[in-house]
Amino acid sequence: MQALSRLYGAIPGVGPAIENGFYHDIALPSVASAKEGHSEEEKISLEDLPKIEKEMRKIIKENLPIKKKIMPIDEGIKFLKDKGYLYTAELAEDLKAEFARKSPLQETLAGQHENLPLPEAAARQAEISFFQQGEFINMCKGPHLKSTGEINPDAFRLAKIAGAYWKGDEKNKMLQRIYGVAFETKKELDEYLKMLEEAEKRDHRKLGKELDLFVFSDLVGKGLPLFTPKGSIIRQELERFIVDEETKRGYLRTYTPDIARVELYKKSGHWEHYKESMYPPMNVDGEDYVLRPMTCPHQFMIYNSRPRSYRDLPLRYAEIAHQYRKEQSGELTGLIRVMAFTLVDAHIVCRPDQVEQEFEQVVDLIQYGMKTLCITDYRYRFSKWDPSNKAKYIDNPEAWEATQNSMRKILEKMKLNYVEAEGEAAFYGPKLDIQLKNVNGKEDTAFTVQIDFALPERFEMVYTDQDGKEQRPMVIHRSSIGCLDRTMAFLIEHFAGVFPVWLSPAQVKIISVSEKHIEFCERLADEFKSNNIRVEVDANDETVGNKIRKARAEKIPYVLVIGDKEIGSGTLHINIRGQKEIVEMEKNEFIGKVKKEVEERK
Ligand SMILES: [Zn+2]
Repeated sequence: MQALSRLYGAIPGVGPAIENGFYHDIALPSVASAKEGHSEEEKISLEDLPKIEKEMRKIIKENLPIKKKIMPIDEGIKFLKDKGYLYTAELAEDLKAEFARKSPLQETLAGQHENLPLPEAAARQAEISFFQQGEFINMCKGPHLKSTGEINPDAFRLAKIAGAYWKGDEKNKMLQRIYGVAFETKKELDEYLKMLEEAEKRDHRKLGKELDLFVFSDLVGKGLPLFTPKGSIIRQELERFIVDEETKRGYLRTYTPDIARVELYKKSGHWEHYKESMYPPMNVDGEDYVLRPMTCPHQFMIYNSRPRSYRDLPLRYAEIAHQYRKEQSGELTGLIRVMAFTLVDAHIVCRPDQVEQEFEQVVDLIQYGMKTLCITDYRYRFSKWDPSNKAKYIDNPEAWEATQNSMRKILEKMKLNYVEAEGEAAFYGPKLDIQLKNVNGKEDTAFTVQIDFALPERFEMVYTDQDGKEQRPMVIHRSSIGCLDRTMAFLIEHFAGVFPVWLSPAQVKIISVSEKHIEFCERLADEFKSNNIRVEVDANDETVGNKIRKARAEKIPYVLVIGDKEIGSGTLHINIRGQKEIVEMEKNEFIGKVKKEVEERK
């Protein structure tokens, strides 16, 4: 920050340490004073980063001592304002307001803002801490090194620049966020940069474009992916796989609409606890409709459409369901965070005595799905409610405790290695989440199993027991292979675009040596197609070498070159993806090989 202040007179926003480094939000003076839309905004660009790094190294060399200063809060605010540090001054004002509201000993501020001083000590004395190095001074809770000279000048790098709304609020000014990475040694830095480079190569947004799997259109809108024919093949294969597997495991399929009357979601509790994630209602002929954020209430109406006996349960309703949830536009990321998505969803309505077994079977299905998709790096998270958040959760502490306890018992019995997370549950019950990391190390929920104690009651769902009495069933919400969009993002990155044969958009590419071979190529392709093998013919007027290179770039598993020799002998010469030597094979043997790989999902 000191370097930015020296070079640009930059005004600091927040600037915390993060995993493997730090970031700092800044505004340049002209930006900060500009009236909305009336001035050319000066910005720091990527080309400026080396210059800033150079200044940082200079500051390290100056070996400036880093000193802590404590100021009474009002004096601190005035000091910041006089310096023109309007953002940190605002944080100090917030802090002061917080002091006024909260009892001095509460620790509620802990960890909210990196720039805030330690809450307890500061609250008692209403003071804020500053750190000074050389001519640069700013409010900060610390801790810091003793001097700038302790930093290894060869082990840090400014990595990237992004936009960040002040306080994360879209209504506020957009600041520039400068990210840096920092390590103790140059070797660690180099290794980290290499990993980043690898991650960039695997990034699903980049590969999605290169391999023509999905696109976005400004006219359609942000966060609304359009799957191309190639991407749709992968998606369809995933759907086929899971529909067949779920059918084997006793699931029944439903199709229900993407919209519903808002009344449905008022009854379910979504309107009360989940409205922030829902799109606003559409009024049609005086009736309000909403896009559905979940499938559950729709399927519950099917359950309620006729009387159910204890013998009918469990009923496992499955649907590949389109759903719509609002995301802040800053949160939208490729296929991982989108505005409209497709969930491989299901709701199991069962008797209370069946919950444990059903839960275990769902986890088994998820594990089977992950094994088939070659996902090995994941983590179980037991997501619980937050008793202090009445807006987000159904207020029934007893039911929460009871359901969480029985879920914990099941997890212990299954010997799953899980972490617990408070405030991550669904509004109607606790969840077991399976967490995956994307190439950039960010973790997201991929698959989930939830026990619901609340919605069966809200929808008055019942079954008749052995004695003819009405009983309340339980519901398990689950997704087996998750949200197809997000799962595809993980798979693209996991395989780096080199999909197994069963998922490859084109499994075989046939290349003609010259024009006279094209007809034979077409006939061969037809034969492959009749064996359900996905095949493309490259009959372009280019060199064979060129065509092979292109097929390799498309990461097609098998490439066949057809010339006089192949037509004469009836033997195929096969370029296998990832192998140097060309393999010779009879046509039928090759067809059998590909079919077997697809069948075994390899
Ligand atoms: Zn559900």
